[in-house]
Amino acid sequence: MGKYVDLFESRLAQYTGAKFAVAVVNGTSGLHAALKLAGIGQGDEVLVPALTFVATANAIAYCGAVPHFVDSEESTLGIDAHKLEHHLERISVFWEDGILNTETGRRIKAIVPMHAFGHPVAIDELKSVCERFGLVIIEDAAESLGSFYKGRHTGTFGKISVLSFNGNKIITTGGGGAILTDDEDLAASAKHLTTTAKKAHPWEYFHDMTGFNFRLPNINAALGCAQLEQIGGFLEKKRALARKYQAAFQEMEGLAIFSEAAFARSNYWLNVMLLDPILASERDRIIQYTNSRGIFTRPAWKLLHTLPMYETCPKMDLSGSELLEKRIINLPSGVKLS
Ligand SMILES: *Cc1c(COP(=O)(O)O)cnc(C)c1O
Repeated sequence: MGKYVDLFESRLAQYTGAKFAVAVVNGTSGLHAALKLAGIGQGDEVLVPALTFVATANAIAYCGAVPHFVDSEESTLGIDAHKLEHHLERISVFWEDGILNTETGRRIKAIVPMHAFGHPVAIDELKSVCERFGLVIIEDAAESLGSFYKGRHTGTFGKISVLSFNGNKIITTGGGGAILTDDEDLAASAKHLTTTAKKAHPWEYFHDMTGFNFRLPNINAALGCAQLEQIGGFLEKKRALARKYQAAFQEMEGLAIFSEAAFARSNYWLNVMLLDPILASERDRIIQYTNSRGIFTRPAWKLLHTLPMYETCPKMDLSGSELLEKRIINLPSGVKLS
């Protein structure tokens, strides 16, 4: 029955270098389950970039936990580890095996770094901050299948990580996602939690906790196997397109095409045009003009702390993200584009 699910999971593990992969219905559910498995619950605070897709914060809220928004920086478009360290020094105190936010009285337990548009965050810097403050890392690698940090696949640095195979991602299963981990017990718990927590038995229905029905259907897993076989070609096309954009705009003043950091090999899932700060006010005009000419450029996500349900959440100074959001224009990046 689950033949392709098993196959897809073992191929994902093989491709990413993670010891275990558990396929789920989508990346959002994967994040929800991953946070639960990491012990995140009611009243915990979880650090998350303000510059990410809304699902990253939603998954935290589904657990009854509170997103605590952190800033991003220009060289990776991901969490600014240095600035985060200063923020935690200022607002937190050590308590038991972790930290308390002195401004809210809540425990800050974990962090969810996200590899924006496929570009790996500065993981070593982030890891050292997390070790210092006792924070668990749950990686949102939804956009970064095929992206590597110092030769190692993204999604293999956290205690637990999540991929997405939504229709717009680098490979798709229609809808789908996966949880990655090196921890065998955690992988078994992930399977259990996402398959209604049913104890294996030939006929009895015994469930030992409130589980989820997050299992990826076999038919979607079959698609995933076929897609994963093609990932090399997809990555070549994405990287070739990024090179073309870079060459085309090289001489252009006032903007740059984002390119991978020295430590990274990016999947260039979505190409980013970065306007000079002085041109940030022109972003909407450029988006409007290009769309009117059939070039479907897009802004980045609205920063999550500005959305109504997250307005009152704790946050650090977000001036880096605020400026980045005004400067980013996402360029058409489909693999069929040439
Ligand atoms: C796509 C995406 C998700 C959610 O994945 P779905 O499979 O669409 O649920 C989560 N986080 C980020 C950053 C994403 O880009």
